[in-house]
This record gives sequence, C-alpha cells and structure tokens, in this order.
Amino acid sequence: MAQHIDGKLVSKKILENLSDEILFLDKKPCLAVIIVGEDPASQIYVNLKKKKAFELGIKSIVEPMPADTSQQELFNKIEQLNNDSSVNAILVQLPLPEHIDTKAVLEKINPIKDVDCFHPYNVGRIATGTKPYVYPCTPKGIIRLLEYYNINIEGKHAVVIGRSNIVGRPVAQMLLNENATVTICHSKTKNLADITKTADIIISAVGQKNLLKADMIKEGAVVVDVGMNRTEEGKLCGDVDFYNVEQKASFITPVPGGVGPMTICSLMQNTFDLYKIQNKY
Ligand code: NAP
Repeated sequence: MAQHIDGKLVSKKILENLSDEILFLDKKPCLAVIIVGEDPASQIYVNLKKKKAFELGIKSIVEPMPADTSQQELFNKIEQLNNDSSVNAILVQLPLPEHIDTKAVLEKINPIKDVDCFHPYNVGRIATGTKPYVYPCTPKGIIRLLEYYNINIEGKHAVVIGRSNIVGRPVAQMLLNENATVTICHSKTKNLADITKTADIIISAVGQKNLLKADMIKEGAVVVDVGMNRTEEGKLCGDVDFYNVEQKASFITPVPGGVGPMTICSLMQNTFDLYKIQNKY
C-alpha cells in the first residue's frame, strides 16, 4: 500500500517558515495580479491568492481589467507594474480573452518579476539547465514534494503525461535537470500503458479522471497526480484511479491534498524569492 504524499503538511511547513521570515521585514514583498474579464474560476483563484498573501504578510495588488481590454492596454498595465519598484512579482491570471495573444503578453513581464516563470528568458534557462529567477509554481511544488519524502530522482525513469507549458514541459525539464531519464507523453502517444509500466516516477498532468489505472504502473512506482477533475457527484478528483493505484504504488499524491496546496505555496515562495533578488537580500 502506497504512502500518501501530504501536500497540505509540506506546504504548511514551508509557509510557516516563510511567514516567520516575512514578519521581520520592514518593507513587505508585493505581488501584483492582473485579471482580465470575469471568468468565475479565475476570480476564485485570484481571491485565494490574495487571501494566502494576506495571511503571510505579503502585500497583494489586484488589477481587474474589463473583458474587452485591448492587448495594448494590457501591455501598458504590465509596463506600469514593471516600472513600479514597489512591485516584486507580476502574475497575469490565465486564461486571457481570445482576442489577446497570451504569449505576447507573458513576454512583456520583466523576467525578474516573472513569478509564474512563463517568460521565455526563464523558460529558456530551465531548458538549458541554468537557474531561472524562480521556477514555475506547480513543477516546483512537485519537486519539493519528492525531495521532502526523500524520493530519489537521479537515474530514475520519469514519465510525464502532458506537455503543457504550465506543468508537463517544465516539470519534465526539471526532472531531467535532476538527472532522471525522462519520457514525455501526450494525446498522440501510442501505447501509453507500455510506457507508464516502465516508469519509476509518473507525473500525470492531463485533466482526465481515471486515465492512469493500476495495470498501467509497475509495482512500487511513485505516482504524482496533478489532474483536477470532478466526479459525477461533483467531488474533486485527479487523473489517477486512486483506490486501485495506491495498492500498487510506493508513494502517491491524493487529490485533493497533494499537488494542489503546493502550487499556491510556490507562488508565495516565488514572490518572496523575487523580492530577495531585487533587494539583494
Ligand atoms: P492542458 O494544457 O490541457 O494539457 C493537458 C495535456 O494532456 C496535453 O499535453 C495533452 O496532450 C495531454 N493529454 C490529453 N489527453 C491525453 C491522453 N489521453 N493521454 C495522454 N496525454 C493526454 O492542461 P494543464 O494546464 O497542463 O493541466 C493538466 C491538469 O492539471 C488539469 O486537470 C489541470 O486542472 C491540472 N492542474 C492542476 C494544478 C494544481 O495545482 N494541482 C496546476 C495546474 C494544472 P496534447 O498536448 O497532445 O493536447
């Protein structure tokens, strides 16, 4: 039976340390969040970030912009925040309305304030095995969970399912930088189970419930479930057939309570890390 990887516990410990460090600062770190339009899920995420920042003593500024904001208006807002020395970290809440070119927007953020690590400068540094200013939030949270549970990455076969810029690609590169042998799978991958069965570590970041079943993993595999889906009853669940997979895995992240809490924790840590870099702390 697998040991559960407790993201709530790990994130709580990290945030307690962070809060202690922030307590003694005269000037507090500041996170600016731009939200365009009124997508209800985005509103919830932004409020959660604001609440967590407040609990930790991080200043947060929310910049709401109407759904019909032009790309140039959004560029101007980012430029204003780039030039504001009291702002340490800038986050543009995704998704953006369809008329806006998301990649162009993310490239406008000064890389030293790029709290999500979406700017090509920072992404490129990870791809070349060089340190970015900060690592992307969810992948960083996953690596921290593996470290906390003393799960060795070096020399292991890590299979990442999903190749998004938010999770799949960066986590695969970070695992490679930790000397894993990495395979990336996606919707066009043939015979997914043949690949996952050879994995020592599986990271599933797809968004499909029951995608990863017990007969698709080898005995003792480490399973990290990034997926966030809903059951027919409306309960939150991951990509993994949890009950059956946990009988066979050595470690497994539950959903909820696994990767999820680590993402917001990394965001807060990244805000503080950017503050430290900018203040040569
Ligand atoms: P995404 O952009 O939709 O990417 C999903 C990836 O899964 C794509 O690369 C897609 O392949 C691949 N895929 C789809 N069907 C597949 C299949 N049958 N077999 C193998 N691969 C398949 O999603 P995302 O933003 O990376 O998020 C993934 C999941 O993680 C979602 O449920 C999201 O809600 C969750 N998430 C959770 C957190 C957290 O903090 N817990 C953070 C971020 C995301 P193609 O590239 O070929 O389309």
